[in-house]
Amino acid sequence: MASARWLKGNTHTHTLNSDGDAPLEEVASWYQSHGYDFLIITDHNRITDVSGWNGAGGALLLLPGCEVSLSSEGKPVHINSLGSATLPDLSAAGTITATLQRGVDAARAAGGVPQINHPNYKWAFTDEHLRAVVNYRLLEILNASSDCNNFGGGGRPGVEEMWDRLLTAGRRIWAVASDDTHHMRGERWGHRSPPGQAWVMVRAEEQSAHALLSAMECGDFYASTEVVIEHIEAGREATALRIAVERDFEYTTHFIGAGGKTLAIVHGREAVYRLRGNEGYVRAKIFSSNGGIAWTQPRVLP
Ligand SMILES: [Zn+2]
Ligand SMILES: [Zn+2]
Repeated sequence: MASARWLKGNTHTHTLNSDGDAPLEEVASWYQSHGYDFLIITDHNRITDVSGWNGAGGALLLLPGCEVSLSSEGKPVHINSLGSATLPDLSAAGTITATLQRGVDAARAAGGVPQINHPNYKWAFTDEHLRAVVNYRLLEILNASSDCNNFGGGGRPGVEEMWDRLLTAGRRIWAVASDDTHHMRGERWGHRSPPGQAWVMVRAEEQSAHALLSAMECGDFYASTEVVIEHIEAGREATALRIAVERDFEYTTHFIGAGGKTLAIVHGREAVYRLRGNEGYVRAKIFSSNGGIAWTQPRVLP
């Protein structure tokens, strides 16, 4: 993968075609002018045509998609179908678990890659439900829009904790952070969902829908709200990474294993973790002194 490079993208975006406040061209222009390489448009229960934008030949690649927005047991069940140009089936089932599976299957059938969104939005579902769902890899552990209760509380688990529980149970699930963009205009604060808050960096051979989505399905990406990782290496004896330092920020990396256990804490721009072999999996969570976070995908140990 010598030719691969890191491409920055947001996998969850609304326009005027659902409950966003701006037309496609305005949303895409913002992401293009802020250095993004790709943007996936996921209006609720409809496909927004992105061919006009891509035909114009700008630096930003738009991928079509849809946020399959269902409800079951009185709770919202939202699954992004990433990359699908045809509308997935939109029928819910009698239970949350069955509805999650329907959404995942509908995304696959429409040629999309499923991403299960914001479990804690209206406290809809947890890892107990997710554990029963198959054929998906992507879980939105951080949704930067308002009201998604990403971090849990009051005795309810945060989504990162759910992710660790799934990984500990042997599931291979990859973490996504996204904007869930709704608001390009007006106030940025309060119950708003502005752009540029959370994203993924995908290591892909080329800037194409196929290369990007294949890399994401393989877990060849990381999620971030600020921290840039220059290099990640999964060697035979160690996992190592190097952070791109911004301004005078300081960095601390937590290596995390099965059970969500912190295996090591390393300070500085380079972080190395020597494998013991009994960790189950090893992933890194990097904190900047400015409040940013990046999450690498787990390295599953045999
Ligand atoms: Zn949603
Ligand atoms: Zn959304």
